[in-house]
Amino acid sequence: MRCTEDRGTVKVINGRYRPTGKFHYIYEHSPIFDENGKLMGITNPRDVTHIHAYGGEAQFFESLGKGKLLGTRCDNPHCEAEGSIFMPFRIHCPDCLAKNTVVDLTETARKSATVHTFMITERTGAFNTLPTPIKFVNVEFEGVCTILMGYLSVGEPEIGMRVVPIFKTQNPTFTILDLSWVPAGTKEADLPEGFTFG
Ligand SMILES: [Zn+2]
Repeated sequence: MRCTEDRGTVKVINGRYRPTGKFHYIYEHSPIFDENGKLMGITNPRDVTHIHAYGGEAQFFESLGKGKLLGTRCDNPHCEAEGSIFMPFRIHCPDCLAKNTVVDLTETARKSATVHTFMITERTGAFNTLPTPIKFVNVEFEGVCTILMGYLSVGEPEIGMRVVPIFKTQNPTFTILDLSWVPAGTKEADLPEGFTFG
């Protein structure tokens, strides 16, 4: 039985979350017995609707569904690391803690993204929705001082390989899964469903 009756939803009124409905469901336990009928434990099913607040990173996740990859840059003239560009999106500079400027890195990614390293895994965490094996790639960009973790949707990863970003512009999920990578030169027809070059 899956309970979705009165499933919690959230509205924002005057800048504040207003949850309505139920966010926690409890289901019937079932006992765990050994071969001789001795009680060894219980299963304890729970169902929790987690509210994931995006805060200052909301524009990053929203932009993916619009085919854009946003990063940030420290523009504080008093910072030793002034001009550093960050991807993943960092709201604040880790060196001076000033608020960063949002920069559009879509073109930078199209022109210069390469695979720094990669990892292929068959074992996934709970609630994984990516097809296995998952080809995780650490993506490096020209002029960017950080490396972004992502996943390759087409082909096999290789160190140094040129890759380009693709975006789930049809029915975006508003999560990091809306961004993926394919080898440079991949045809639009070979992209996974819902994805485009932006
Ligand atoms: Zn700084």
